[in-house]
Amino acid sequence: MIEADRVVSTVCPYCGVGCGMDLHLKDDFIFKVTSDHNNIVNKGNLCVKGRYGYDMIYSKKRVTEPLMRKTPQRAGERSQAFDLDEWRQVSWDEALDYTADRLVEIYERDGSDAMAVYCCAKATNEDNYLLQKMFRALFRTNNVDHCTRLCHAASVVALQMAIGSASMSNTAAEVIKTDVFIVTGSNTAETHPIIGLQMKEAVEKYGSKLIVVDPRRVELANWATLWLPQMPGTDVTVFAAMAHVIIEEKLYNQEFIDQRTEGFEDFAKSMEKFTPEFAESISGVDRNLIIEAARMYATAERAAIYWALGISESTHGVDNAFSLIHLALLTGHIGREGTGLNPLRGQNNVQGASDMGAIPWHYPGYMEVDDPASADIWEKAWNVEPGGLNQEKGLTTTEILSNVGEGGVRALYIMGENPMMAEPNLNVTRHHMENLEFLAVHDLFINESGAYADVILPGASWAEKDGTFTNTDRRVQRIRKALEPRGHSLPDVEIISGLAKRIEDRLGRPGSAYWDYRDPEQVLIEMGEVVSAYRGIRYERLDEVGLQTPVPDEDHPGTPFLFEETFPRGRGKFHLLEYVPSAEAPDHEYPLILTTGRLLEHWHGGTMTRNSQLDVLYPEALVEMNRVDAARTGVKSGDTVRVSSRRGSIVLRANVTEKANLGVVFIPWHFHEAAANLLTLDELDPVAKIPEYKACAVRVELASEDELVNPEARTRRGRW
Ligand code: SF4
Repeated sequence: MIEADRVVSTVCPYCGVGCGMDLHLKDDFIFKVTSDHNNIVNKGNLCVKGRYGYDMIYSKKRVTEPLMRKTPQRAGERSQAFDLDEWRQVSWDEALDYTADRLVEIYERDGSDAMAVYCCAKATNEDNYLLQKMFRALFRTNNVDHCTRLCHAASVVALQMAIGSASMSNTAAEVIKTDVFIVTGSNTAETHPIIGLQMKEAVEKYGSKLIVVDPRRVELANWATLWLPQMPGTDVTVFAAMAHVIIEEKLYNQEFIDQRTEGFEDFAKSMEKFTPEFAESISGVDRNLIIEAARMYATAERAAIYWALGISESTHGVDNAFSLIHLALLTGHIGREGTGLNPLRGQNNVQGASDMGAIPWHYPGYMEVDDPASADIWEKAWNVEPGGLNQEKGLTTTEILSNVGEGGVRALYIMGENPMMAEPNLNVTRHHMENLEFLAVHDLFINESGAYADVILPGASWAEKDGTFTNTDRRVQRIRKALEPRGHSLPDVEIISGLAKRIEDRLGRPGSAYWDYRDPEQVLIEMGEVVSAYRGIRYERLDEVGLQTPVPDEDHPGTPFLFEETFPRGRGKFHLLEYVPSAEAPDHEYPLILTTGRLLEHWHGGTMTRNSQLDVLYPEALVEMNRVDAARTGVKSGDTVRVSSRRGSIVLRANVTEKANLGVVFIPWHFHEAAANLLTLDELDPVAKIPEYKACAVRVELASEDELVNPEARTRRGRW
């Protein structure tokens, strides 16, 4: 047995659960990952990604030197370059000077609207704060966004409008204290496995009742008292019908409604049409299941709702989220332990990146960019002249790309994101990427987006730097440097600061903002001087179990659950709802509905997991089909099929399974060989600007094995 020289405690870099983990090192090599049973978040448990996914840091494909293209790229002619022969290795000085020169040249010629940045929900709070500061303070643009736009933007908008705060209201582990909990639009057992484990424990050990509302028979449905399998895109009808039942049967909490909400009377009238019969006719869910679920949720002493991307990634994602928020406002199941509204955040630090202002409408701390008082505060904090910050709302991720071109976005800086896997309708995304005038990518690997870049800036992995992540239940935790960065890669704070200073010099604004940080903690303290939720956080205070925001001063113990007395906007507000059908319905030509999502073994566009041993466990995309749909098409498990939408086609193998509901197919979106987003629709929710990933019309037909991009790959999960 190998004896470790050192054990370094840190936090998992994959999902928003934020499991604590111990890296075991021998001769400066991580050979094992374990977790402490006393860890408050995960009690010693880790899923397969946390336990085995660390080895991507040693991948031979990792970029460890700054790279520049041998052949300069021009707008309209940009192409992908994965082969290292197409790049030349350069010094950090050359890479950063070149990046600064190109960005400043475009800014001085075309102004702030030509500049844009994707921050990164995998990077630390400190990295994200600095990157948005660089673009706001130096390039005067709010074209600052990250992948929250593609996951929970609709939840964020709805929660902000209804109660004034978009965070999970309660601690995830409180699920064992609920009597009834709803899980909807979330395959929690695969996407947030340790929270999924706690949910199973709540049912098995503590007698909680679980209601699953999901078009797929996800694993948690096996623990559920009720499973309501709605057709994709019909969520509003199911939850509005539950509200209808609660109102009709007077199961609502009158005292809570009177004291803590507004708009109930009009809302109640608007729910009259959402009868369970109407919901059944649209969603396919048995009306009796809807009635039973409504009674079960409303009459519980403590009830909570957990949701994820199945709710938010929709052209009516904001309405979907409103329909959940209404249930809590009707019944008063919020503001107490074991209750609440809990959007499960996907990435390890998507909550933190949003808190840090990596969004186009908000400075750090969700201060509105178009509010002159907020701009004034940040101008003082960043030493920007009065009126210097841009007070126009910026473009979202999808809008940044669709605005690429003359008079629009010309230069893009991407830190750790992969739009060429993550954006919908990738054939159109490709066209936008080709038209960029300058693209800088700051990442660990040359992924599908990095292959379009002019310059690659190799960042350090989470095990090679210090900083903080904020997990899904607002817990700020330390990540700790266990290793020196590989090759000449650098911690991201150093890359951004080095670049910012060069830009500042070129713009003739030396010393305009502070870029010389002693350590990452100093970055967090600078942000906390303005953002009260982080003001009381110091690294030494995080050593034991982290702290849950808000932490308004250095004596504050953190906040396990929110809204005990009031909501940030005062009263919780009911919003009127209408049912709006999905943007694209199935028809004769494309008779099935495609829904997309994640798998246990992989993460997002696969930049990390597909460069780890996890890829051996699940090396290929599969399309899940119901056996009736499969029989109609003549498809058996293991057959090669072509899935086509109006936007593109992919070829992959089929998995015929009872997990898939009739008329619905599911494809994970981690695999570039069969990228699900070649099929998806780039329609946006009108308010949150989140794309539709959960419902578009497709056709499945048999194809030849020769058409598979990687025919040797065979997942062990297939059951044929
Ligand atoms: Fe990491 Fe999430 Fe798995 Fe925990 S549940 S080990 S945070 S991927």
